[in-house]
Amino acid sequence: MYPSPVQVERMLTHCAHARYVWNLAVEQHSHRRRWRRSAPGFAEQCRQLTEARRENEWLSSGNADVQQQALKDFARAMNARFTSGFGEPTWRRKHVHEGFRVIGTDRVPEYHADGSPKRNAKTGRQVRGRSVVVQRLNRRWAQVRVPGCGWVRFRLSVKGKGGKLPEAKSFRVTFRNGQWHIAFALVPEPLPVPGTDTVIGIDRGVTVTAALSDGRKLNCPQLTAKERARIRKHQRRAARAPKGSAAKAAEHAKVARLKAREANRRKDWCEKTSTMLARCYAPLRFEKLNIKNMTRSAKGTVEQPGQNVAQKSGLNRAILAQGWGLLRQRTGHKAPGRVEDVPAPYTSLRCSACGWIDKNSRKSQAEFVCSSCGFTCNADTNASINVAAGQGGIPRPRRSAGAGGVTTATSRSSAREPQPK
Ligand SMILES: [Zn+2]
Repeated sequence: MYPSPVQVERMLTHCAHARYVWNLAVEQHSHRRRWRRSAPGFAEQCRQLTEARRENEWLSSGNADVQQQALKDFARAMNARFTSGFGEPTWRRKHVHEGFRVIGTDRVPEYHADGSPKRNAKTGRQVRGRSVVVQRLNRRWAQVRVPGCGWVRFRLSVKGKGGKLPEAKSFRVTFRNGQWHIAFALVPEPLPVPGTDTVIGIDRGVTVTAALSDGRKLNCPQLTAKERARIRKHQRRAARAPKGSAAKAAEHAKVARLKAREANRRKDWCEKTSTMLARCYAPLRFEKLNIKNMTRSAKGTVEQPGQNVAQKSGLNRAILAQGWGLLRQRTGHKAPGRVEDVPAPYTSLRCSACGWIDKNSRKSQAEFVCSSCGFTCNADTNASINVAAGQGGIPRPRRSAGAGGVTTATSRSSAREPQPK
């Protein structure tokens, strides 16, 4: 979105109001205890909001719809706290969680899927639903009505669909890293299911982001060496600038902008790749990764400091820069019911030709030579074929465990795959 300076001012106030109302709701719910009465629901909160607007001049100067939608967002987040993966709604912070939702002010008649008009059960009149007010300016630009701001221009970033404007009931405006974004709330059309039943295995790694079992290797774009050098330069300048100075803030902002570029690049790649995967393959198999555990810090405690802390934190950064979790999540969204998670142990050490598991088969990060049958393959491709077959393998029982006994996992696995340098 490209608002004018006056509009920016107003939209930032909307953000502040939405954040304030959300945080009030969080506070109300944080007081909830089992022996007390339950915290107020959406309807009660709306009533309280009207009351608060009457008493508080700052709040009543803002838009009531924006504030009410913040409560609605909170209610939805609360309802979805067990399924969304985000847990209980928490505090929103200034400069970090800037955004607000706007509900459409236009009214349009609603129809059923078969084309018959939707009618109110009581009155029999046709239901008139909300719709956002959008206007196209030219091929790439459009404008939208934001309460209190008039028309705000934005660039149409979604191509195709006959160049149609979004027909949404609401939209969300966010402000992140000095950029305004608009997102219309639309249920996307499901991707067509491919006619084939080719199973594809996807092995995620650090050197190759996603190795497919058909031999393709997909890489998530990272920052270039030049961009990384620029980040270091600005970090250095920020560190040397006097405390609390404008120069320090400016250098930090430059670092943040470059880091945001990396995140945007990663997100874009994940979206495109997951769409490609969902379009081309029917069953998709990912190896099951616990990214949270994999990227655990090696720092340790003051009494027991960890070893190789810098290396581990570098590896953690490299893992998180690959967007493994996002790729899996978005593929799941786009191909519902067609994505499976395969247990990961030994997928990288098992020979995909004969099934022999030996850590000596893995000659280096990229090379796999089976110590039993001599099968040679790229290590990542070999692992993805194992994933496609749906198996990692069963570890042979260790000698220390009794016959038929179950081996206990030790903290340091000897069967760890070679790490990239
Ligand atoms: Zn083999």
